[in-house]
Amino acid sequence: MRICRYDETKIGIVKDGVVHDISHLSDRLGLHGYPLPRHDLLIARLDELREEMEAAASSGAGIPVGAVRLEAPVANPGKIVAAPVNYTKHFDEAAADPVTFPKVHVRSIRESGLFLKATSSVVGAGQGVPLRFVDRRTDHEVELAVVIGKECGFVPESGALSVVAGYCIGLDMTIRGAEERSFRKSPDGYTVLGPWLVTPDEIGDPSALEMTLAVNGEVRQHTNTRDLILGIPQLISLASAYFTLHPGDVVLTGTPEGVGEVLAGDVITATIEGIGTLETRVRSTP
Ligand code: MN
Repeated sequence: MRICRYDETKIGIVKDGVVHDISHLSDRLGLHGYPLPRHDLLIARLDELREEMEAAASSGAGIPVGAVRLEAPVANPGKIVAAPVNYTKHFDEAAADPVTFPKVHVRSIRESGLFLKATSSVVGAGQGVPLRFVDRRTDHEVELAVVIGKECGFVPESGALSVVAGYCIGLDMTIRGAEERSFRKSPDGYTVLGPWLVTPDEIGDPSALEMTLAVNGEVRQHTNTRDLILGIPQLISLASAYFTLHPGDVVLTGTPEGVGEVLAGDVITATIEGIGTLETRVRSTP
């Protein structure tokens, strides 16, 4: 199943390039008084609503994907956990260019651990990336994004994939420099998620997915998730040992080599096998 959010408030199921509106099911997400739970209401009930979602999607006409504005598939992630330098060739390119990648950040992920990005940085493909500073280098980083489906802690690697609600493409947009990662990677719009969430049954083995990123049609990043240093079960296990994970939490798994600058007007196209293609625009902040 491929679940998208679109046109600000709508929920859809994507089939063969068509979005089927299932927004009426949002009244099944439960009423919550203040304070709200720490999880995403839709992701928390995916299993329970799956049959109804599929039934709703097969009745009635849809709209072509190209005619909607895609929002991030998770509306309210509780946190975004991210992996620094998790592909060996990206480590190598960073180590070779100490002017762009200050030495303090070029360390083994086993030393660095994980970092967090502000949830306010999340946008969908249809919203695009507003460059925060025109005088600083801002890079694209394509990553497989894992969306957690169950509240969990101290998850063993062997059971880690069972807590996954689905996968999507993530762009971990990054201002290069010496400051802390969470600071440089958290401006509004610097976490693009999409184009939709794909449930694990459609993905099969997430540790063997081809991934590419192109800017204005020129391929800049290309890898396979089998080259991750810490694989998906290890990342979930590590993250859940430090924080309780909640439905809708996102784990960005790290970017391969080929990171590079984007400028206002650029079009980023990212593809991950089994998920699809996310296209988004970079613009200057007015
Ligand atoms: Mn990254």
